[in-house]
Amino acid sequence: MSSPDRDEENERSQTNRSDNDNKSEEGTESEKPKETEESEDSNGMVVFTYDDSPIEDYTQTFSIHQEYEVPGNAAVNPGQMGSSDSYLTPDQLEEMVDAGWDVLSHTYKHRALGKIRLDQSLEPGDERVYVDRNRHGRFDEDPLVIFDEENRIATEVAGRGSNDTGEFIELTNSVSTYISDTGYTKYPEWKIQEVLEKTDTQLAEWGFDVSGFVYPYGRYDGVAEEIVRDHYDAVVNHRWGGGLNEIEGLDPTTMRRMYIEEDAASEEDIEVFLDKAVENDVLAIFGAHSQYETMTEERTRFTIESVLARDLEITTLSEAMTRIN
Ligand SMILES: [Zn+2]
Repeated sequence: MSSPDRDEENERSQTNRSDNDNKSEEGTESEKPKETEESEDSNGMVVFTYDDSPIEDYTQTFSIHQEYEVPGNAAVNPGQMGSSDSYLTPDQLEEMVDAGWDVLSHTYKHRALGKIRLDQSLEPGDERVYVDRNRHGRFDEDPLVIFDEENRIATEVAGRGSNDTGEFIELTNSVSTYISDTGYTKYPEWKIQEVLEKTDTQLAEWGFDVSGFVYPYGRYDGVAEEIVRDHYDAVVNHRWGGGLNEIEGLDPTTMRRMYIEEDAASEEDIEVFLDKAVENDVLAIFGAHSQYETMTEERTRFTIESVLARDLEITTLSEAMTRIN
């Protein structure tokens, strides 16, 4: 039902539904948390991840987490932080980290690392490539590879746009090779490496440890996946959907998360999810965007309270990784 080529914005509601589809036969009616036999401190761990380093992470989400004295995890874009009033500053992030938050990489400037499908074939002489989404056209002079089963072109971005035909990327030169409409655009591997290294270097210069990774736009397809898994110890949106990550045999570079914005999940969805987190030996991961109108203060509070009411522990990704290993 959900194609991995779709973007995050379109995909979120399907994401959560696919989790419920897989497990809908059990437990949907249970409203109260069940007591487990394990006499541990809690019924399990829950990790909250917030993407894009918007100022609302600080002004809204961090404040609410502080009220409940529970940490979150900020998946940040250091190349955008402090660039305008819309983003966190390093000082604000430091305050959050001092209060117990983790920092995750979300790439330097929110580049879509995975491959993106062509919408039309590319003919010799073309300087414009029509694509499913023009994410790879955001930055002029970015290197780009356009390829199909037979051919491969290394080129460069000169802009992007859209018209009645669809979304497109402008190239600096006309292409000399035919690429079929089964092809894709992608960043060359060295560019993906460069982006990740630049992200980590900037965060390290600011004094932050990086405990994991979140794909921008949920674009994991292709070689990006191998590079990312090589680079980070934990990936929280390796694939769409899910969010209940079984601890037995867990590979932390292939985890998933559930979106909790109001247009992505109902209160009942969240409660059903958390009931399963209580019943099973899992690491539950939530994802959200503080800057979205659908990520209301009410929703943040509801989710935190629902977790705490079940004696689940809200923790950081690094703490969860330490305890699982
Ligand atoms: Zn993002």
